[in-house]
Amino acid sequence: MPSVTGPEIDRLIQLLARLPGLGPRSARRAALHLIKKREALMTPLAGALQVAIDRIRVCETCGNIDTRSPCTVCTDTRRDPSIIVVVADVADLWALERAGASNGFYHVLGGTLSPLDGVGPQDLTIDALVSRAHDPRVSEIVLALNATVDGQTTAHYITDLLGDADVKVTRLAHGVPVGGELDYLDEGTLSAAMRQRTLF
Ligand code: ZN
Repeated sequence: MPSVTGPEIDRLIQLLARLPGLGPRSARRAALHLIKKREALMTPLAGALQVAIDRIRVCETCGNIDTRSPCTVCTDTRRDPSIIVVVADVADLWALERAGASNGFYHVLGGTLSPLDGVGPQDLTIDALVSRAHDPRVSEIVLALNATVDGQTTAHYITDLLGDADVKVTRLAHGVPVGGELDYLDEGTLSAAMRQRTLF
């Protein structure tokens, strides 16, 4: 295909195309939009990216991403120190925070165990989680992991390791989504919802 732009704009498009959810076509559109909105969008975006490069770090306690370590969540004294919510990824932590789902602290594993992809316990922050679970202030570890084979394998592995810690290990319920219609659910979800039914 003949190139209609110089290598600089091609490079911008190629980099944008690496973002999740953007294919080459949307990347071209995004690049064009940025170029047209140079003052209003491109310059501030470049500035925000530079700030991110200079200042953003991984929290040494929980694995969240912030401009300081310990992060904003870990230094929030209004939180309940007895609960640690374990998530696979920072995106999951942010999703739970957006939902206001928990008032506890977090622990980001950095992924889930996946023998097929060569991800073992040493690739995740499981050792750090076990040592946090032995903090006498902690009484519950909530495993907020994906309802996938890898997520559940990881949950079982962690539960076994926490056997000698004085904590209750819980996990998220599986079941009917809010606003969900039974007729549209897959059999796995429906049978999990039936098994985990609660008193009305
Ligand atoms: Zn933190």
